[in-house]
Amino acid sequence: IKNIAVLTSGGDAPGMNACIRAVVRTGIYNGINMFGVLQGYQGLITNNIIPMDARSVSNIIHMGGTILKTARCLEFKTDEGMDLAFENLKAHDIDALVVIGGDGTFTGARRFAQRHQINVIGIPGTIDNDLYGSDFTLGYDTAMNTVIEAIDKIRDTADAHDRLFFVEVMGRDSGCIALRSAIACGAEAVLLPEKETSIDDLVKQLGAGAITKKTSSIVIVSEGHKQGGAYDIAKHVKERFDHYDTKVTILGHLQRGGSPSSFDRILASRLGYAAVNELLKGSTQMMVGLRGNEIALTSLDEALSEHNFKLESDLLEMTHVLSI
Ligand code: ATP
Repeated sequence: IKNIAVLTSGGDAPGMNACIRAVVRTGIYNGINMFGVLQGYQGLITNNIIPMDARSVSNIIHMGGTILKTARCLEFKTDEGMDLAFENLKAHDIDALVVIGGDGTFTGARRFAQRHQINVIGIPGTIDNDLYGSDFTLGYDTAMNTVIEAIDKIRDTADAHDRLFFVEVMGRDSGCIALRSAIACGAEAVLLPEKETSIDDLVKQLGAGAITKKTSSIVIVSEGHKQGGAYDIAKHVKERFDHYDTKVTILGHLQRGGSPSSFDRILASRLGYAAVNELLKGSTQMMVGLRGNEIALTSLDEALSEHNFKLESDLLEMTHVLSI
């Protein structure tokens, strides 16, 4: 392997820049010519591929977003798009690709490597923490810290006014951020994509809190909750329970931004370093992840066939017990 390209794809996540830096510098250290692809798979198709040196990744370790930009690219899902992407890589003599993204990104990478002679390694980069084979994905820790900071602020104003807040957090399929932030913020209840919620039980629980003189309540709603988002749930609850003035906050995209935490910077550096070393050893169609503080390899097949986040039953129970 002489030439390696790196790209970021799907939703951005804090730590992607730190990871690009690690990939580029590990490659250069090993005598590899390094390239960056702009705008994910879109840049492969439009030949938006640039050479990168050690200085191209200076002073980015602390930055959110991604200097390579990211995009969702429908054309890459077609055979023609993939063939065009491969021609562009060949024109640069690129023989291996590091992709940083979520499961869509990995699905594309696996198909690409099955169709064309190219080695690929995936790095899990998504705030959702929902990729099988890694205890943590890039960006999750930073996003959690952002969510916690925001909910703490909401708690201050909720308490001052005796209010009930419904706070919607990200997680289309995974309740990881919702459940863990509920514990970390002492929320009164949490509604998850993986679990049905009885509105009657929720109302009962909030009512019990009111009787025991709670001055505020916070209910965290995951955006992927099947019975509706924070506005819907707030409306259903308000129809049956009007003890508190009720407000809704959608945290939205602020959860994606910001300077990566120390955890995410270190994880990004470890995974970027490991990805290039694996390519140099001849690995392909694998994901590098972290399991029990060790770097672990998982085939893209396995990473894509399993679902990662299993609701921690003790955390679920604790949301009831610790919020009495
Ligand atoms: P996030 O978890 O943040 O949404 P993701 O990587 O899952 O990240 P997607 O938008 O699902 O984000 O996928 C990123 C890109 O991967 C898509 O825009 C597309 O270019 C490519 N991709 C997804 N699925 C396929 C597929 N079946 N075949 C080829 N390419 C795909």
